[in-house]
Amino acid sequence: MMLICSNRCGGSLFRALFAEVEIDAAGEYQDYRLTQPGYVCLNCGAPAVDLGEVPAAMEAEAREDEASTAPTAILCPVCETMVQLDANMECPNCGAPLEVG
Ligand SMILES: [Zn+2]
Ligand SMILES: [Zn+2]
Repeated sequence: MMLICSNRCGGSLFRALFAEVEIDAAGEYQDYRLTQPGYVCLNCGAPAVDLGEVPAAMEAEAREDEASTAPTAILCPVCETMVQLDANMECPNCGAPLEVG
C-alpha cells in the first residue's frame, strides 16, 4: 500500500476511515465495512488515495478524459453546418442552440 494525498500537499500522515470492525462478545472478528473515502490526509484533510490501487482507476479516468476532450462535431439541425462542440453550445452560423447527446 502506498498512500498519497490527492491534494499533493506533501502530507505523510493519514487517518484510516474504514476501521468499522464488528466483533462479538469474545472479541472475535466478525465483519468490517468499507466507507469512502478510505483515508484522509491529516495535513490538509483531502482524501488520500492508495497508489497500489490507483493505476486501474487512473487508466479509467484517463480514458474518460480522452473521450471528453476528443473534438465532437455535430450537425446543426437548422442550417446543417458541422459545428465543433467545445464551450460553444450554439451554432456559430445561425445561432441555433445545439443539443449534445
Ligand atoms: Zn494533504
Ligand atoms: Zn446552424
